[in-house]
Amino acid sequence: MEKITLSKFTKEELDNYIVDIGEKKFRSSQIFSWIWQKNAKMFDDMTDVKKQFREFLSENCQITNCKIKTRQISKDGTIKYLIEYSDGLCAESVLMRFDNRANLSVCISSQVGCKMGCKFCATGKNGFKRNLEAYEIVSQILLIQQDTNLKITNVVFMGQGEPLDNFENVKKAIYLINNNLQISIRRITLSTSGVIAKIYELADSELIPTLAISLHAPNHSIREQIMPIEKKYNISELKKALLSYSQKTKDRITIEYILIGGLNDTKECALELIKYLENLKCNINLIPYNPVSDNNFKKPNKKDMLKFKYLLEAAGKKVTIRLERGADIDAACGQLAGKIK
Ligand code: SAH
Ligand code: SF4
Repeated sequence: MEKITLSKFTKEELDNYIVDIGEKKFRSSQIFSWIWQKNAKMFDDMTDVKKQFREFLSENCQITNCKIKTRQISKDGTIKYLIEYSDGLCAESVLMRFDNRANLSVCISSQVGCKMGCKFCATGKNGFKRNLEAYEIVSQILLIQQDTNLKITNVVFMGQGEPLDNFENVKKAIYLINNNLQISIRRITLSTSGVIAKIYELADSELIPTLAISLHAPNHSIREQIMPIEKKYNISELKKALLSYSQKTKDRITIEYILIGGLNDTKECALELIKYLENLKCNINLIPYNPVSDNNFKKPNKKDMLKFKYLLEAAGKKVTIRLERGADIDAACGQLAGKIK
């Protein structure tokens, strides 16, 4: 008989299960805290749970049904994990350890592969395999906490997949991250290529994460060349959705903009971008393009990058250039290809 996976449960579901098998409800709180707060890897770690009950749990249940298949550690401390699911498919997660000492961020995947097919992205090149279930998404964080015995403080949906193309599972995962892992909703960021209909729905949901948008172009024609989603959801409609989201949350939106040499890193592009972002409260994150095999895109040169940044700043925008993290282990943005079987 297949074991019951306890990390699939919300607190209420775990309470019900524990009571159903004839145990006292407070056991549920103990187990819940061992799984989600105290990084227990096995039931025997749960020292305040009586031995007989631990044995019952070991025989009938498992904490998670996913496992760490490989881990690669970068020179800068970034760790890339390959997480294997029960059907043998894998997705990648990245732990960014040294952002600053108080913060420990993990970048998680929402799908195995991605349907969106952005031209610059390694994930998009490999096509789509399947959506991840909510608990499979959250298990990435759980396994990394178990592995490092550290508490994750920030979560970004910036790994493989388009989170808004797996909306119900992602919404439930946000709930579990917030409730079970006790990570504040303000420290959860969802990055999307711009599935507009779902951006409106997200703004109406109970837990509204910080939004990051993969914009990558200042106008329709450049965006269309590199992001197929622009054909369905265009950049002017996107602006309306972003304004509405930021009015609702009163929070800044993060604009992600990959600088691709000669394509979208010119002075004209910077000026057009400034115009596009008028009236929107945002932080702009410039990401130097990370080369992916078999396309003709080029890295931007440093001078153009700094000039682009300067132009935006001169217009009063908040801009950072994203550090390349874990580049030596292909853990940088857009390089998560995974091993799709
Ligand atoms: N699908 C969502 C979430 C994945 S986030 C989205 O696209 O927003 C992955 C981030 O890495 C996105 O901002 C994406 O645009 C960026 N990215 C993809 N390929 C890249 C590359 N080759 N170089 C730099 N950034 C890249
Ligand atoms: Fe998918 Fe995002 Fe990559 Fe585009 S950038 S292919 S949406 S993962």
